[in-house]
Amino acid sequence: MDPIDAERLREDLERLVRIPSIAFDGHPRAPLDEAAALVKELLPGSRYVDVPGEAPSVYAEYGEPGTGPTVLLYAHYDVQPAPTEGWESDPFEPTLRGNRLYGRGAADDKSGVVGHLAALRAYDFKPPVHTKVLIEGSEENGRQRILEVVDAQPDLMRADLLVIADGGNWKLGEPTLCTTLRGHGKLTVTLRTLENALHSGMFGGAAPDALLALVRLLATLHDDDGNVAVKGLSDSTWAGADLPEPDFRRQAGVLDGVSLIGGGSVADRLWASHAVSVLGLDAPAVEGAGNIVIPVARAKVAVRIPQGADPVDSMDAVERHLRAHTPWGAALDIEVEPASSPLALEADAAAARALEAAYGKPVAVMGSGGSIPLVARLAEVYPEAKIVLWGAQDSDAAQIHAANESVDLTELEAIARTHALLLQQLAESEG
Ligand SMILES: [Zn+2]
Repeated sequence: MDPIDAERLREDLERLVRIPSIAFDGHPRAPLDEAAALVKELLPGSRYVDVPGEAPSVYAEYGEPGTGPTVLLYAHYDVQPAPTEGWESDPFEPTLRGNRLYGRGAADDKSGVVGHLAALRAYDFKPPVHTKVLIEGSEENGRQRILEVVDAQPDLMRADLLVIADGGNWKLGEPTLCTTLRGHGKLTVTLRTLENALHSGMFGGAAPDALLALVRLLATLHDDDGNVAVKGLSDSTWAGADLPEPDFRRQAGVLDGVSLIGGGSVADRLWASHAVSVLGLDAPAVEGAGNIVIPVARAKVAVRIPQGADPVDSMDAVERHLRAHTPWGAALDIEVEPASSPLALEADAAAARALEAAYGKPVAVMGSGGSIPLVARLAEVYPEAKIVLWGAQDSDAAQIHAANESVDLTELEAIARTHALLLQQLAESEG
């Protein structure tokens, strides 16, 4: 294994960041094809894999199959849109400030793409274990068409260890293994109180307002301290490392004087407990609001479901709570979207050793509050496979999906070295 070529790593990243590969409606297809072509060029012997209705994924295989474990390295070359508002430099002109390279996708997830490339280059693309690479081009838009590829070609991504480089350390320079992802479900709640809107001067004070009813109902989802107040949800405690509150406050950008919500450790609240939030509200806009008593109001409610809880039971409990707490006999309609299951990722020993060796310090075991549909499907299709989720998207400053996204170049190099060391670890544990 050669050392990671840090200069080349940065050069690859800069080339990729310059391409506005946005796979959302209303954005041109050409940059996606350009990014796919560049990834294909950078991965010798690779080929395109068609993804229905999307830009192609790029697939390659290295090393000898059958001699030991097979590893799959995954990342994605598409990025979130980048409205110029708030950016201090052009989102598609990679810009170095301090040790961070700024640009849309510099972290999410072009850092994942170039990290895999650098690790393979350290072996001159002859890694010591059988290695598959899949670089997707349509992760961010939520359409999840890659799942159709997984279903139609189950052997393509089949591996003993799936390395998803689309995550990050809980803090810059602190090696982190992620062992859980929460499940996720949504409900749309509609309340009706009146046949139509009424003049608030003539009817207000006695006629029930649907928006007030909805606000009262939503307020019952938490107690005064911000704990979820829904009965029948099974929460637990987090067995791994806690997230220190000052770090969490800083990363989340909680304003001075504003308290966190809920009880228990921060880790308990993020990774071992249910979270309920309101994603959207249909009500008259403030601008131009009329003097009316509102007849109908609607909200979208999201539920994050921790490991150990049954997503159907959890969604039932929230629905029961809403039905039981609807004020004033308002007509309630609830639409439940099927929830994804929480996911446990068994901490892989080789991955932990590689991470510890690359950073020279012990590994923290953390959860992730989010859910990743591809990871969930891979876990279903390859139940025997282990899944590792990590990457150079640190929680401190990477600002993924937001303005001024960036990656720390030392972190990026460390993650590339982690990938390379992992391949070596796997070869040695086999030998
Ligand atoms: Zn991503």
